[in-house]
Amino acid sequence: MTQLRVGQGYDVHQLVEGRKLIIGGVAIPFERGLLGHSDADVLYHAVADALLGAAGLGDIGQHFPPSDDRYKDADSGELLAVVWGLVSAEGYRTIHNIDIVIMAERPKMAPHIPAMKKNLARILNVAEKQIGLKATTTETLGFVGREEGIAVSAVCLISSHE
Ligand code: MG
Repeated sequence: MTQLRVGQGYDVHQLVEGRKLIIGGVAIPFERGLLGHSDADVLYHAVADALLGAAGLGDIGQHFPPSDDRYKDADSGELLAVVWGLVSAEGYRTIHNIDIVIMAERPKMAPHIPAMKKNLARILNVAEKQIGLKATTTETLGFVGREEGIAVSAVCLISSHE
C-alpha cells in the first residue's frame, strides 16, 4: 500500500537593518535582512513545515525551539536536512514534488531562483524538476507590499510504501 500525504507550510520573517538576507540558502545582496533566532531562512522553514505537516510530525518550532541556544544563528539548511531525516524515518521515503511561492516586494527573487532550487534539490535529494519555485510581489499591499517582511508558502506531496 502506498500512502500519499500532502503537507503545507507557511512562514514569515521581518525585514530589518543589520541582518543578512538568506533565502533558500542564497545570500541575496540587499540593504536589509530577515530577523530571526536562526539564519531566518524563511523558505527553508516553510518547506520544513510542509514536510513535517505531511508526516504529522508537528512543526519546526517544536523540533528546534527558539529558546534553545543551540539553534542561534543556525544554518537552516542543516535544520531542513534533519527534518527530512525525521520524515523519512517515519517511512516517507519519496518526495513527489514541492511547490513554493516566495512573497516579497523587493529585492527581485528571479535571478536567485536557480541557485535556491539547486540547494533544495541537494538537501532533499530530489531532482530539480520536482521543485516548483516562484516569486511574486503583493502589488504594494499588506506587510509584504510595505516591505516589512517576506513570506513563503509551500506544499509538498510525499509517500510511504508499506
Ligand atoms: Mg521561521
